[in-house]
Amino acid sequence: MTKRILLLGGTTEARRLAGLLVADGHRVTTSLAGRTSEPLRPAGDVRIGGFGGVDGLVAHLRDERIDVLIDATHPFAATITRNAVAASGASGVPLLILRRPGWTARPGDEWHRVASLAEAAARVAELGRRVFLTTGRQELGAFADVDCFVLARSVEPPGTPAPRDLTVVLDRGPFTVESERQLMLDHRIDLLVTKDSGGSDAKLAAARALAIPVLMVDRPALPAGPVSSTPEEILAALRRLS
Ligand code: NAP
Repeated sequence: MTKRILLLGGTTEARRLAGLLVADGHRVTTSLAGRTSEPLRPAGDVRIGGFGGVDGLVAHLRDERIDVLIDATHPFAATITRNAVAASGASGVPLLILRRPGWTARPGDEWHRVASLAEAAARVAELGRRVFLTTGRQELGAFADVDCFVLARSVEPPGTPAPRDLTVVLDRGPFTVESERQLMLDHRIDLLVTKDSGGSDAKLAAARALAIPVLMVDRPALPAGPVSSTPEEILAALRRLS
């Protein structure tokens, strides 16, 4: 049966899921936070911008007569996920959560897991002098006091505050292991800093090949309850709701 679905997006998986849901006959609106000025457009409708907290999201679910809410946001987008759980509880609209799995270390990896960006920034000096930072432009401020060369990659130019000795590469993935390896060689990188976002692990494979250590920022905790790890699992869970 056709359902009206609000899909909280902003990830590759959310875009793929939107395609599957539309092909399955559902009416899908993907919601984007609006952080990227030229986002890749998913199938179905798109709305852009915050809802105004839990109450705003509850009102949106009611006004748009949404049947199912799906949270397919980034593993580090913890606020919108908390809001989705609360709004689902308050409105009775069922919530499905899609999270791609995190990464696991392999033989040859030297990973240092940290609980936060602040902890990562505090440990940079101990582990390297030329850092490749792939945490995203919104997180650059956490590294403002890092006193070494920083190569940062983001889709759009970062603002301030930012590290003093900063070089920015503007690029949007997917990246290959070879291009990542070359980038790290070109900039004589000796430390990779990344969030445990999951998905393509080309930079991690390149770091392994070059024996570069990795500072890996752990994910925020997920809310209790079932979580799907692929768009196909969400589709199956949606069919079980009918
Ligand atoms: P966040 O801290 O969890 O959310 C902050 C606020 O942004 C939310 O309270 C909500 O505002 C609004 N928001 C977030 N995602 C939204 C969505 N999909 N649709 C409408 N409003 C949304 O999230 P964030 O870390 O800023 O990330 C924002 C978006 O970028 C997410 O959709 C996420 O999937 C994507 N993204 C995040 C990262 C990351 O590392 N954090 C990386 C890649 C992509 P209101 O309270 O006003 O509703």
